[in-house]
Amino acid sequence: MALLETAAQQDDVIKAMVQQLQAVTFEAVVTVMAGYDPIQPTLLTGQTGKNGWMVDGAESSPLRWVALDSSKRTDPQEPVVVLHSSAAFASKVIDHAEPAATGRELLMKAAQNLAPWLNNPAWMQVHRWRYGFVSQSLAQPLLHHPELPTLVGCGDWCQGGNVEGAIASGYRAAATLAQILP
Ligand SMILES: Cc1cc2nc3c(=O)[nH]c(=O)nc-3n(C[C@H](O)[C@H](O)[C@H](O)COP(=O)(O)OP(=O)(O)OC[C@H]3O[C@@H](n4cnc5c(N)ncnc54)[C@H](O)[C@@H]3O)c2cc1C
Repeated sequence: MALLETAAQQDDVIKAMVQQLQAVTFEAVVTVMAGYDPIQPTLLTGQTGKNGWMVDGAESSPLRWVALDSSKRTDPQEPVVVLHSSAAFASKVIDHAEPAATGRELLMKAAQNLAPWLNNPAWMQVHRWRYGFVSQSLAQPLLHHPELPTLVGCGDWCQGGNVEGAIASGYRAAATLAQILP
């Protein structure tokens, strides 16, 4: 966007593309990855099976969802839980100087709501994404203008807002360029 905005000052087609891009918005997310001692139970209260689990946060919760990520691996060495914050929570803490404190806050919330052992990880990593999830997409598979055919924008922000959307947009961009380039 920063690159295009400079070019848009000299080119009306790029200006029109930038105007389209301005409709696209993102939500921030803070993600915690937490590993636990293998002897820790990985079940949630009331859960009887041994399979993976994923819990969605209520609308007012600071948690978007929490899942037993290690259950997706074929040979997990330890239980690993991934917690994603809500957009509202992330927007408040995204610039905090101490992300670890934010991570501990999310773990504590999950422990209160799901299972106490979640509050005692062996290790923890916190990641912050200012542009984490697409909240308003471009609503078309790619950003493209017929008068500037070799400039193509693609990604999850075009349509879909997830990996599938990003891949579909990438394929569409490649096909568009392949038609134009010799
Ligand atoms: C925490 C989190 C969890 C997610 N979980 C899921 C999930 O479970 N399932 C799912 O389908 N989707 C999930 N998503 C969404 C998914 O990750 C995205 O939809 C997907 O990665 C978007 O792909 P993309 O190629 O459009 O963009 P990206 O994967 O963001 O790739 C853009 C690339 O461009 C690079 N880049 C940016 N600016 C510049 C620059 N100026 N110069 C050079 N390079 C630059 C970046 O470094 C990056 O490598 C998740 C997203 C987040 C943040």
